[in-house]
Amino acid sequence: IRKGTAPSCCGKIRVFCRIRPLNKSEEARGSRFVVGCPDEYSVTVDSARGLKEFQFDKIFNSTSSQEEVFEDTSRLIQSAVDGYNVCIFAYGQTGSGKTFTMIGDKELKSSGVMPRAFNRIFHIVEENKTKFDFKVSVYMLELYNERLLDLFVNPNEAFNKKIEIKKDKKGLVFVQGAETKEAASAEALFALFKQGCMNRHIASTKMNVESSRSHLIIGVTIESTNLTNGSVTYGKLSLVDLAGSERAAKTGAKDEQLKEANSINKSLSALSDVIFALSTEQSFIPYRNNKLTQLMQDSLGGNAKTLMFVNISPADYNAEETVISLM
Ligand code: ADP
Ligand code: MG
Repeated sequence: IRKGTAPSCCGKIRVFCRIRPLNKSEEARGSRFVVGCPDEYSVTVDSARGLKEFQFDKIFNSTSSQEEVFEDTSRLIQSAVDGYNVCIFAYGQTGSGKTFTMIGDKELKSSGVMPRAFNRIFHIVEENKTKFDFKVSVYMLELYNERLLDLFVNPNEAFNKKIEIKKDKKGLVFVQGAETKEAASAEALFALFKQGCMNRHIASTKMNVESSRSHLIIGVTIESTNLTNGSVTYGKLSLVDLAGSERAAKTGAKDEQLKEANSINKSLSALSDVIFALSTEQSFIPYRNNKLTQLMQDSLGGNAKTLMFVNISPADYNAEETVISLM
């Protein structure tokens, strides 16, 4: 994904880079750590193309904790409750740490942005409940091969359901035909999320699709009614765990894999075009090129606040792909 050349050139878009540690098998194989972090804003990659340097709004190195990562993110949760549209998403090749960053590890011993955001939302709700009446609702979708699947619907029925992306009078994207569930607590919100993950697992097993080949999109809407004057504010937090950005293997990819790879490429490059157009302040933003950007439209640009994580692997054998992710 193309990014600006200097930190904070992108207005309301901030781009953080997170380097994951080498894993056990990489260590056992003697993989080299080829990514450097000369300062808080720069990352270097020692690849076959030489030493390359890239700038970001902030770098999290391989020892950064989930707490540290969330610390910088949590202000955005307040913004969503305050009525902004906020989008947080993770980009990078499969295995680079996107899901770890957005959701956490499998046992959730180390929760990522999403469960922490759920807690934060309801923490803020609790603190302000004498002044506002809050209503928190959520939808959860998977985008695979241009096809949207509602993850709150029984996977046996979800395949037959027609879902369309629309915009309402307030300019909020809504997904016509998708279930929206209300949650009264962080626990309830998390339980809905877990149910959605289960449905995603069942659906992907049916379709024989790896979760790294589809995009996961969660939209949390926060409606707050001011108890003094009755005015209503809507904010929305979109959380997106993107499909892996790696290029399709040029050889050996079968029809289905090629279709899948082309679809992912199309959606990620549409997203990259939108981010580029926004960061260079162009007048035309090409949202409508793809379902992914249509879905994210109300949370990218305009008044929205966007945070993108570029997740990278530090290992030597990934260096080529890492440089492409950072470009
Ligand atoms: P992706 O979603 O990009 O395909 P994952 O988030 O699944 O990648 O990460 C791949 C593996 O690396 C997982 O086992 C994950 O727990 C681990 N991992 C990723 N980032 C980190 C990190 N910052 N610290 C520790 N383990 C990590
Ligand atoms: Mg993943």
